[in-house]
Amino acid sequence: MLAGPTTTEELLAHLVAFDTTSRNSNLELIGFVRDYLSAYGVESVTIPSEAGDKASLFATIGPPGVGGVCLSGHSDVVPVDGQSWSSDPFTLTPADGRLYGRGSCDMKGFLAACLGAVPAMTAAKLATPIHLIVSYDEEVGCTGVVPAVRKLGVDLPLPRACIVGEPTSMRVVDAHKSGMAFVTTVTGREAHSSMPQLGANAIFAAAELVGELDRYRAELIEAGDPSGRFDPPSTTVQVTVIEGGTAGNIVPRQCALRWNVRGLPEFDIGPLLARFERFAEEVVLPKLKASAPEASIGTVPVYTVPPLAPQTGSMAELLALRLAGQNRTHTVSYGTEGGHFQEQGIPTIVCGPGSIDQAHKPDEFIEVSQLRACERFLAGLIAECGRP
Ligand SMILES: [Zn+2]
Repeated sequence: MLAGPTTTEELLAHLVAFDTTSRNSNLELIGFVRDYLSAYGVESVTIPSEAGDKASLFATIGPPGVGGVCLSGHSDVVPVDGQSWSSDPFTLTPADGRLYGRGSCDMKGFLAACLGAVPAMTAAKLATPIHLIVSYDEEVGCTGVVPAVRKLGVDLPLPRACIVGEPTSMRVVDAHKSGMAFVTTVTGREAHSSMPQLGANAIFAAAELVGELDRYRAELIEAGDPSGRFDPPSTTVQVTVIEGGTAGNIVPRQCALRWNVRGLPEFDIGPLLARFERFAEEVVLPKLKASAPEASIGTVPVYTVPPLAPQTGSMAELLALRLAGQNRTHTVSYGTEGGHFQEQGIPTIVCGPGSIDQAHKPDEFIEVSQLRACERFLAGLIAECGRP
């Protein structure tokens, strides 16, 4: 029917060849997916980003209207900058039952398996529709899918279940932590370092803030994980980047901290943030202001990834367990787009081929056997959705 790629491996080779590092446009990849779908008579809708340089794609196979099962995956990948690869990261390279390439595991493998299943979906005369979503900007805070998700149940159909195909080694994941990242900027005053009383040292102030975050880190470890399901078993706090100062003989005027919190599903960031800001305002800032009245400390959010909360017995959970041939669910500590679907009222689980251990690393790969397992999962889905 089609002269182009048809097998999961061929499709994956095409997808990997698009350098969709999050800083780049994904429009060529989206165009490829749109053309591929249209060759099978499947119409798709694109939802552009605000700047117009990226887009998500939404397509339905099967009867129009509400309901159905949504398969969702992101098209962007993390950078290869500074990583040492044994082969070209944007050329899918087979070796020893593995396929190497940036995004092969996270998560173009899942997208390739979904696209490879499209001919079977269109041939099956589905009674229950299957929806496909291909998103962008997942690796920079899971934000790109949001405009598409907000349309579900509004001007696009509301799926009854969503499967986000992040790499879980095809295990069914029903819960993950939230992710919240912040930048705190301390501004003091410059002075010659021999005359520190004339300046206000932003790095000393930032160090006190780091110490405060470290206290929260320890307290949260102490509080643990009442569900006993997460690894590590607590909400975690990390300071990840610190930038400040200009020279060895200048009292630094500015210091910025990037920090993040990965919360258990029930964790509320509000009280922690309020406490941090109170500490900054009441303990740290007065010391800076003593010599520099213009000093300031400000914290701004960078991104918020909602948690995936377990919904025991949901249609998504029961369906995925059945299709994966498993009898229990798992948790992961990384964030996915799943929480956004859940916030939209769609029961959601995470289940996809490949291991997160191979994601984001040089020589990223996916086991061919994982693609086969995903194909079986999708064949099962098509069979279920084919039944009236
Ligand atoms: Zn991913």
